[in-house]
Amino acid sequence: MIKTEIKKICPQVKFKELLAKHTSLRIGGPAEYFVEVANRNELANLLKIAKKYNSKVFLLGAGTNVLVKDRGIKGIVIRLLGDFRKIQFKNRSVFVGAGVGLFQLLKISAEHNLEGIEFLAGIPGTVGGALVMNAGNPKEGIGNLVDSVKIMKPNGKIQIFKKKDLHFSYRRSNFPKGSLILSCWLRLKKSKKETIIKVIKERLKERWGKQPRGYSAGSVFKNPPDDYAGRLIEKAGLKGVKYGDAYISEKHANFILNRGKAKAKDVLYLIRKIKNTVKNKFGVDLELEIKILGN
Ligand SMILES: Cc1cc2nc3c(=O)[nH]c(=O)nc-3n(C[C@H](O)[C@H](O)[C@H](O)COP(=O)(O)OP(=O)(O)OC[C@H]3O[C@@H](n4cnc5c(N)ncnc54)[C@H](O)[C@@H]3O)c2cc1C
Repeated sequence: MIKTEIKKICPQVKFKELLAKHTSLRIGGPAEYFVEVANRNELANLLKIAKKYNSKVFLLGAGTNVLVKDRGIKGIVIRLLGDFRKIQFKNRSVFVGAGVGLFQLLKISAEHNLEGIEFLAGIPGTVGGALVMNAGNPKEGIGNLVDSVKIMKPNGKIQIFKKKDLHFSYRRSNFPKGSLILSCWLRLKKSKKETIIKVIKERLKERWGKQPRGYSAGSVFKNPPDDYAGRLIEKAGLKGVKYGDAYISEKHANFILNRGKAKAKDVLYLIRKIKNTVKNKFGVDLELEIKILGN
């Protein structure tokens, strides 16, 4: 039985774990199997089981850019802990496990007098999620700093992508479908801890001036070419619109927030409303930035 086999590899597996507990929107139904893996062997063994039982596999980082549907996820939802949270410095390069939090990476790099990732200040999430999403701002993304990325393919084999094989663009990367990102090497620059911390503080201040606090998944839509999704949504008169316990932020119209009890269906309603209204008023097809997961 799949349950028993997963339990043998990861005794701490949880069944029907509510994913609302693991997403920044605090929304999401249950994961059929929720497994926190500590190393490559466990991950490869889980993939074997998934293949044997034809079960789907989903990797969840910090859940800060996803909307998980109310019926949850059928399959194995994996989070990376243990070995995947390692950080190691070698001159100006840093080896980072995919499960490392972006804030932790920023802090430790500053302590090593290394700069280059300050633009990530205030972006929640893990390094794995940041690589998939090429997290950053419209001008800078984590992809620019990557030297190489190690992934596990769905068949359990390891593959290393060098800089030349990787293409990052605005909120996009070119990892093959089903890739599980394990770690990467980033190239940083020498600087002084005090200077770096000053920049981080400035970036955070700037961000919190523009961005609402509360349960959200960050920007819901990508900015269309030469424009801003937030500007279009605001111009369409949608700021503050509510549905259930979900609402479009008054502070930044590209954020949908959960007041506490919102369901994925409420957020999906607002997403449809925004898409339709912006299309009708301005002829622009907004593309989702957040990933919708689940059945
Ligand atoms: C308040 C707020 C502000 C934000 N501001 C920004 C911003 O300014 N710029 C920006 O770019 N983003 C922003 N985000 C979005 C988000 O924080 C980033 O995209 C972040 O990098 C996502 O990381 P995560 O670990 O949470 O990924 P998740 O949300 O868990 O996952 C995102 C996607 O990546 C996949 N994934 C995650 N880890 C792995 C892995 N190891 N291997 C393979 N696939 C994986 C998931 O399956 C999913 O498809 C913001 C979010 C919030 C809540």
